[in-house]
Amino acid sequence: MIAVMFGPPGSGKGTQASRVAARLGMLHIATGDMLRDEVARETALGREAEPIMRSGNLVSDDLVVRVIESRLAQPDAAKGVLLDGFPRTVRQAKALDEMLTGKGKRVDVLVALRVPEDVLRERVLRRAEIEGRSDDTPDAFAQRLDTYRAETEPVLEHYTDSGTRIEEVDGVGSIEAVAERIVKALSGHRDAVQAQ
Ligand code: AMP
Repeated sequence: MIAVMFGPPGSGKGTQASRVAARLGMLHIATGDMLRDEVARETALGREAEPIMRSGNLVSDDLVVRVIESRLAQPDAAKGVLLDGFPRTVRQAKALDEMLTGKGKRVDVLVALRVPEDVLRERVLRRAEIEGRSDDTPDAFAQRLDTYRAETEPVLEHYTDSGTRIEEVDGVGSIEAVAERIVKALSGHRDAVQAQ
């Protein structure tokens, strides 16, 4: 099963995706984590991505698509995959669809986390205190939210139009409670996919 965890900055995508993937035995692929790792290792790619990430903008589609393509080609991606932070633009979604079609696969389900804007802002500013992420400042957060609305929300439309199953999940509540809702949404779907 190929699933996408979808939601605005601060919606808990990363936290939830890593928990839920572990519980369901899926591979968690987070482009934000992969890029932060490149930045920390000061690779050429990391040096290119760092200022863009710090400002709250998106790194180029070509770069992210290359990173995902090589990750999905590794053997551990043959089990179920939970994508987190990708695709973030319609171009990325189309590139992903093409990659998967080549392997006889598709995005089976998209989990859309719903969290009101005031809660998002509060969470991100709290995370800034705890983790010190360079893109959790108020300015960078505002930019990330604008980018999400302009570039990423249309991805939901793309998958709605292609008839992909969309699971809307309430993202407000304790980490455990939200994880439980997502596991439930995905488990039902996994059974259906496996029965095909
Ligand atoms: P995240 O950890 O998913 O919030 O990602 C942190 C930052 O990494 C984003 O604000 C972008 O600058 C960059 N990034 C992560 N995933 C992508 C993607 N799929 N496309 C473009 N930029 C991305």
